[in-house]
Amino acid sequence: MKIFSSLDEFIDSKLHIDAFVPTMGNLHNGHLQLVEVAKKNSKNTCVSIYVNESQFTDKKDFDSYPKTLDADIKKLKDTGVDYILIPEKRDIENNSEGFDPVLEPKILTNDLCGKYRKGHFLAVMDIVHRFFQIIKPNIVVLGEKDYQQIVVIKELIKICNHKIRILSCPIIRADSGLALSSRNNLLSEAQKKIASEIYKSLVLASSLYEQDSSPREIEDEINIFFSRSLIELEYFTIRDLKTLQQPNDNDLIALIAGYLGTVRLIDNIIIKSHLR
Ligand code: AMP
Repeated sequence: MKIFSSLDEFIDSKLHIDAFVPTMGNLHNGHLQLVEVAKKNSKNTCVSIYVNESQFTDKKDFDSYPKTLDADIKKLKDTGVDYILIPEKRDIENNSEGFDPVLEPKILTNDLCGKYRKGHFLAVMDIVHRFFQIIKPNIVVLGEKDYQQIVVIKELIKICNHKIRILSCPIIRADSGLALSSRNNLLSEAQKKIASEIYKSLVLASSLYEQDSSPREIEDEINIFFSRSLIELEYFTIRDLKTLQQPNDNDLIALIAGYLGTVRLIDNIIIKSHLR
């Protein structure tokens, strides 16, 4: 395994990267699953660890984001990853073009999480566009935990004509159902128990759908569910699985975001898919 802390050294090495796994560090089994999938489907794998400040809409959220570089490197070594890239902001900016904001697909980026985190997805498109230019992978491996992010990156690939294929991986959860997330480290054990209500609500939504409830009826039920919870719901909604636009007869996904104390949690569940 080779660690590049200098972007210049990475560029000078002229490596041909097959699979790229972007992360913000504080790695858990959700991230490691992406690495396993990347390894299985490629000739070599590069994992980046970079906390992109501009995609944080709340400075306190950025400041408190858990940083565990030594432990992350050890975990990646154990999975047998080929390359780790830990670049500096200035070097990324000096070696790539930014994403042109005029091209932002606002119908997607200002909706759902983007409605509550202004500028978040534009910053994600910018950093991912820059990484794609620098690393030039054939494959990017992403987690369905950040489902809207996958749809945004799909758009980015289309808009900028990147020759990159997305491999997406299912959400890895704790036994309680809570989706693994770096932000879970900011929760107490008691809060983690409460946070698992998010997954419970998604399972309820899925079973209501099986019992022929309409998306509107399901949304009403879930709002009632959270009216009795310590979790403050930001949104719960059912959308078209492919486009994330309003639901129709196609495949469907339920998406949720909420706050427990100061910690923002997101999750989702596919409730109708012709593939599953
Ligand atoms: P992050 O470090 O939070 O930016 O996440 C890096 C990648 O890991 C993204 O593609 C996430 O969707 C993915 N990821 C994070 N948590 C999970 C999880 N619990 N299950 C699957 N993928 C995840």
